[in-house]
Amino acid sequence: MPKICTRCLLRDFSKEQYDKIIVEGIKALPPEELVSDEVLSERLVFCKECEKINQGTCLACGCYVEIRAAMKKGKCPYRKW
Ligand code: SF4
Repeated sequence: MPKICTRCLLRDFSKEQYDKIIVEGIKALPPEELVSDEVLSERLVFCKECEKINQGTCLACGCYVEIRAAMKKGKCPYRKW
């Protein structure tokens, strides 16, 4: 039975799904709409500590947090970042 990780980013849960969903999803976005790696890391610190994350998905908005946090226009629905 696969381990359920409720406080994980997708990259920590499934490398295969991370590459397929997150890496490809970010590649499809215009580079000028993306935040720096530093900003992305700062945002994801909040997600990893949040009670709303479940296997890389934010239960408050339904998004993959690693894609939402990578976008300049991305916002946390709880204003944590
Ligand atoms: S986007 Fe906000 S509410 Fe959703 S998991 Fe991240 S910190 Fe939590």
